[in-house]
Amino acid sequence: MLVHRKLITLTCLFLLPIFVFAQRKHKKSYQPKHIPTVTAGAASSFRIVPLGVLGGIDESNLSAYMVAPAGSDNYACLDAGTLHAGIEKAIKENAFDARSEKVLKQYIKGYFISHAHLDHIAGLIINSPEDSTKNIYGLASTLETVKTHYFTWESWANFADDGGNPQLRKYHYSVLQPGVETPVDNTEMQVQAFPLSHSNLTSTAFLLRSKDSYVLYLGDTGADEKEKSQNLHKLWEAVAPLVAAGKLKALMIEVSYANEQPDKSLFGHLTPRLLMNELDVLAQLSGTSLKGLNVVITHLKPPYKTITKIKTQLNYLNTKREMNLVYPRQGKPLGF
Ligand SMILES: [Zn+2]
Ligand SMILES: [Zn+2]
Repeated sequence: MLVHRKLITLTCLFLLPIFVFAQRKHKKSYQPKHIPTVTAGAASSFRIVPLGVLGGIDESNLSAYMVAPAGSDNYACLDAGTLHAGIEKAIKENAFDARSEKVLKQYIKGYFISHAHLDHIAGLIINSPEDSTKNIYGLASTLETVKTHYFTWESWANFADDGGNPQLRKYHYSVLQPGVETPVDNTEMQVQAFPLSHSNLTSTAFLLRSKDSYVLYLGDTGADEKEKSQNLHKLWEAVAPLVAAGKLKALMIEVSYANEQPDKSLFGHLTPRLLMNELDVLAQLSGTSLKGLNVVITHLKPPYKTITKIKTQLNYLNTKREMNLVYPRQGKPLGF
């Protein structure tokens, strides 16, 4: 009997650490292993499908972002550098359960062109023969360039409803007045346009609204300091109340070069340092820190070595600021 009792005690002593260890392990497995930086689901206000994310030379991956209210298939397409290759990639990534023709013709309800540089509009022009009837939105100066340089019958057939004859009337030019909220046809969204300074050109920021939530997309832009401009300052003033109220769900902005890029070679673009200086102005005007704000970094320019450097510089500068920097991938949906 005594031997038996000793055996039980020994067994208990032997099993106890295993039991405790198992409990700990068990507990650990219930802790969140990884909090995703980007979430898609019921809590999101917007769904963004990047069709192209880079700023140069890779013609299969140039600026274009489909944005819709979460749960809707009615998208606005912000810039249109790459369409077909991006849609195909997105279908491979299961972003859409549809054929690419359907995504192009039915899901994209209109294009928002920030400026007429080819890396922001080439996809629209090349895909125009296969596209459906829709609006091309932009500031007057951008649409004028599209009308007089691309849909001209000289560089391409005129698929629009203005400019050179005959007009094939597939696209309607919809001129946006700066700062005036306009409904986006066939979607549940509204848009406001703001001028940006991009070297010799006027580029555009688009503020999309769905109910009480906003996404701000900036086309190519330089910093006010370098461009001798007030355009970004005016934009930050306009969106500061939305940041303060937590209504700005994401800000999409370019960083094209690393900090080492000389001023004379910026060509109206941002570096990590210039971006952070600008966002510090936004924080100041908002009267709040930008901690946790979703900032989607667009228009990184290859080569890949430079892209890696830009990311390292951005992440370093963000350590104190604690924004949620997002590096979009072609075809991978984002939820904000
Ligand atoms: Zn560009
Ligand atoms: Zn540009």
